[in-house]
Amino acid sequence: MPLVRYRKVVILGYRSVGKTSLAHQFVEGEFVEGYDPTVENTYSKIVTLGKDEFHLHLVDTAGQDEYSILPYSFIIGVHGYVLVYSVTSLHSFQVIESLYQKLHEGHGKTRVPVVLVGNKADLSPEREVQAVEGKKLAESWGATFMESSARENQLTQGIFTKVIQEIARVENSYGQE
Ligand code: GDP
Repeated sequence: MPLVRYRKVVILGYRSVGKTSLAHQFVEGEFVEGYDPTVENTYSKIVTLGKDEFHLHLVDTAGQDEYSILPYSFIIGVHGYVLVYSVTSLHSFQVIESLYQKLHEGHGKTRVPVVLVGNKADLSPEREVQAVEGKKLAESWGATFMESSARENQLTQGIFTKVIQEIARVENSYGQE
């Protein structure tokens, strides 16, 4: 019997960048049109990666800005993060930088497993953030970067498998399980 490992992942980012849509695509496999200002929602899914099984517990948050104080429940017992901005909003990208700093401080400056996601890549005429900028920011943290479209179901599965791999990578770099 394979060991099922529990992983808690929190999705953070400015409001309306597509956090709920990405979580919903991943868990339900569909895109729901329209903006639902989530209070906080949790999803569970078993994810199989090679021989390993993971019980992924996803927390979809209401959205933050540069003034938000992250509650302890977003820090304690959390294995990894998906930080989402919209490629159509420079402001949402700027908010990510301050969120990362807060996570870094909250985790006592140890390495935090993060996947940085530029969502709404289907809206390229309205683009305000180039892929290269996202890539550069993620590289400065030693994190993974990807662009996605929850609407077109582009790379949405990959985000959540990547965060599980990222958690394993950071844990292994500390020589822990
Ligand atoms: P949240 O507040 O970050 O959870 O954002 P939502 O998931 O509620 O999405 C906000 C709005 O953006 C909704 O109207 C969605 O339909 C839309 N949206 C989300 N993801 C995408 C995407 O990848 N492409 C496009 N074109 N619209 C999206």
